Amino acid sequence: MNSSTALILNVDDNDGARYAKTRTLQVAGFQVIEAANGTDALALVTEQRPDLVLLDVKLPDISGIEVCRRIKAEPASATVLVLQTSAALTGRADKIRGLEGGADNYLAAPIEADELIANVNALLRLRHTQSELRESEERFRQMAENIHDVFWIFSIAEKRLLYVSPAYDALWGASRSGLADDSMAWLDAVHSEDRERMRHRFAQLLDNQHYDEQFRVVHPDGSVRWIRDRCFFVKNPKQEIYRIARISSDISDAKDAERALQDADNHKDEFLATLAHELRSPLGPIRNAVELMYHVQSSNADTHALARKVISRQVDHLARLVDDLLDVARISKGKITLQRMPVELGMFIQAAVETTRPVIEIRNHALEVVVPDEKIWMIGDSVRLAQIVGNLLNNAAKYTLRGGKILLNAERTSMGNLRIMVQDNGIGIAEERKASIFTLFAQGDTAPDRAQDGLGIGLSLVKQLVHLHGGKIWVESAGTGKGSRFFLEFPILERELDQAQPADNTILRDAAHQALKILIVDDNVDSVNITSMLFDSLGHETLIAQDAISAMAQAKQFRPDVIVLDIGLPGVDGYELARMIREQPDIGRATLIAVTGYGTDEDKRKALEAGFDHHLVKPANLQNLLGIIKSAQRLV
Ligand code: ADP
Repeated sequence: MNSSTALILNVDDNDGARYAKTRTLQVAGFQVIEAANGTDALALVTEQRPDLVLLDVKLPDISGIEVCRRIKAEPASATVLVLQTSAALTGRADKIRGLEGGADNYLAAPIEADELIANVNALLRLRHTQSELRESEERFRQMAENIHDVFWIFSIAEKRLLYVSPAYDALWGASRSGLADDSMAWLDAVHSEDRERMRHRFAQLLDNQHYDEQFRVVHPDGSVRWIRDRCFFVKNPKQEIYRIARISSDISDAKDAERALQDADNHKDEFLATLAHELRSPLGPIRNAVELMYHVQSSNADTHALARKVISRQVDHLARLVDDLLDVARISKGKITLQRMPVELGMFIQAAVETTRPVIEIRNHALEVVVPDEKIWMIGDSVRLAQIVGNLLNNAAKYTLRGGKILLNAERTSMGNLRIMVQDNGIGIAEERKASIFTLFAQGDTAPDRAQDGLGIGLSLVKQLVHLHGGKIWVESAGTGKGSRFFLEFPILERELDQAQPADNTILRDAAHQALKILIVDDNVDSVNITSMLFDSLGHETLIAQDAISAMAQAKQFRPDVIVLDIGLPGVDGYELARMIREQPDIGRATLIAVTGYGTDEDKRKALEAGFDHHLVKPANLQNLLGIIKSAQRLV
């Protein structure tokens, strides 16, 4: 504190002596107020809170010793310094009495000016140091007692714990009082697998002088907390380590996050391995089938037919895998929207059976389909409903030994819902796995006569699609080896809707009845060649182009009825090309079909905006493509 800002109360009933002391103090730069008796002095202490009271012992009303005692007894003024003085020559006994009454120092007359100032300054300095100490202690206390970390200080010489912060109780799940007798009692709560290591590390603390450890503590309720524990070595001015400061922090959340990340990482590796396997396995048969077609004369119709069957089955399988993957990604982003419309049960059941028939046949299963005679309608997306039932049929075929029995049964329940059951006599599902098979990437046993395949996404996808339809799905199984029954339940649309749409393959058969001019544009040579050969084989006339510029040139000469366009062309892309075509009066009326790898709603919107009539996702379903061609035939 700057002495000039210090306020001093000068108390003396002798006017002359008081005046002399006031002058001396003022000359030294202090502010001074005065009182001539004890009562006034106490009032001024309360009102003005001086830094120091220069207090004469002999006062007319209350003795100086008593005034001092009252100042020090009052909490609000206890820190005010008191320098006791006596005018008359006093003995040692008086001095002792004064100091015992609480005075901070005692000066006996005759008091020289410089002695007075030196004493006042010394006391003010002392108080300044004390208040700084108090402030720093307060700061330490606030920090140590309010952070969640546990703060400890050990004395090395005394082998004793000097301080541990209150956070200990919450972090250790034990009371600090347990440390009073044994400063190592914190080890009791340490997890039994970590305890010996920690005891050892602590015993070696001073040898190593580096300590940064992690361990677990177990709370009385059995819950486990992870702790990061660090020690810091405190040196005295002689540079000797004499204390250890320690901080123990709760890192349970970080540990949980770390473990979750690790699990996710393992899962990802596992998933990628499965994915690679799944994507690769259809490629083998496809390659072999192609080789076979090369080597065997095309006149050998049976072999060629077999090879074609293999290729188309494996391609379907690949496409389904990729579709499932994309669906999972879209569903998890909430991007799947159903094309809701009235759907008749027979329509999607037939489609589901058609797509899974090859798998069922190849494993020699007997499939029985039982559907009611009446037409049952519901609101939904027929493609998705076929996907749901197809998935269950596919699983039934996969998880049943060759030559098994699969039953697909649909009926109206007494509650007026549509219930579909897919039953197999396969490997069954253990009770404890029933809930988890519907979660993403959950995979279980494989039929003993099959290698592991699939990605563990089918049922999770099915469940979500069922929920999007407002339906329910559940599974029943008497246990391992006892077969499974998957049930679906959907609300029925109670309305006669008899304008059933054709659900068979007539499109494919009828497609060739009117020859069209079709221009196919794709930079993938294999893709254009195959598509054009297909259309040729159905009696259409085709031309191919591999980029936008030659496509425009071809189109002008050829005047196609239909243009099948890949969007991802080099240079000018498919959108731009579609716009250019639409602007040409001679060719602008052709039916434009976009075939692309991008299938989001946004991609569809962009395609329609660019002038396309239809948007198909690769690999384009041949039936869809031919369906569009057929409608184009009607228009021509
Ligand atoms: P994937 O078939 O690719 O493993 P799914 O999500 O379709 O993935 O199925 C998850 C798991 O559920 C399968 O790994 C299998 O253990 C079990 N499961 C599914 N359908 C059947 C079934 N019909 N019989 C026995 N287990 C089945």
